Amino acid sequence: MSALYSRVAFVGLGLIASSMAHAIRRAGLAEQMSGTARSSETRAIAREIDLVDLVCDTAAEAVAGADLVVLCVPIGAMERIAQEIAPHLAEGATVTDVGSVKQAVIDAVAPHLPDHVQFIPGHPLAGTEHSGPRAGFAELFDNRWCILTPPEGHDPDALDRLTRFWQGMGANVDLMDAAHHDLVLAVTSHTPHLIAYTMVGVADDLRRVTDSEVIKYSAAGFRDFTRIAASDPTMWRDVFLTNKDATLEILGRFTEELFVLQRAIRQGDGALLHDYFTRTRAIRRGIIEAGQDTDAPDFGRIKT
Ligand code: NAP
Repeated sequence: MSALYSRVAFVGLGLIASSMAHAIRRAGLAEQMSGTARSSETRAIAREIDLVDLVCDTAAEAVAGADLVVLCVPIGAMERIAQEIAPHLAEGATVTDVGSVKQAVIDAVAPHLPDHVQFIPGHPLAGTEHSGPRAGFAELFDNRWCILTPPEGHDPDALDRLTRFWQGMGANVDLMDAAHHDLVLAVTSHTPHLIAYTMVGVADDLRRVTDSEVIKYSAAGFRDFTRIAASDPTMWRDVFLTNKDATLEILGRFTEELFVLQRAIRQGDGALLHDYFTRTRAIRRGIIEAGQDTDAPDFGRIKT
């Protein structure tokens, strides 16, 4: 594929930015890449592994002359970065981000950007529990969704180019408004993470009673919670601080359902439990049919 942008600039060089850099190189989507990170340690690693062509000490330097700027920092850092880069953005550049919550990022970033740039927020639905510039890999976005939330009045050409850019990195692209994105993600990602954090916290309390049994028998389901609960604390703190309403709405529904199941267990209502679990099993089948997970036993850990 030929280059879609002459210079892509990353602000933040962690898991998502480094995966994008590898995927961009794989497909030849940019003539040049620049980037910066907060700490000199991360910038030194980025230079050592040759992550991008130009590692800059400041965000202002990194974005200068870029026709695509990608904000890859935690949501809570977006506003300060937007203020810092605003005077240095090239005329006609597109600014996008990869934040896991969209309305809060728009509120934090859009007011600071000059009129001569296009702001098209985005969120790749792909990640791992690892962080930092060494964590990235080119295949992270393959067959995953990337949701773009273009504002009213956006330039269709800028959106089209950004769409082809994500497709070039292997992703499928969908468009949504920001509020809808935040509700969908509260169901599919944010609340499940909170439940995993809680479950691991409960088991940690219990461990004091059962010693190592929680670890020893973790393959019985708990292990998969621990992987999710190992996700980056800063990122997830910011997700819950900024997607508050949607997460509370879904948590409310979750609590109601939990009480229904709790009562069914107390009352020995096997029919209710069986019907409920039959319905949820069908959802799992739908996810596999949509190519979003493997049907292999134990999530593919067991080689068949
Ligand atoms: P990461 O691996 O932890 O990297 C974060 C980067 O942001 C690092 O380069 C870090 O610099 C920089 N940074 C952190 N705090 C900063 C601050 N206050 N000011 C300036 N720079 C700061 O994170 P990531 O997983 O790539 O996540 C980045 C964004 O992607 C987040 O907004 C997150 O919501 C979104 N996202 C994450 C996932 C996922 O599963 N991880 C999936 C989809 C979207 P230093 O290394 O120098 O500290």
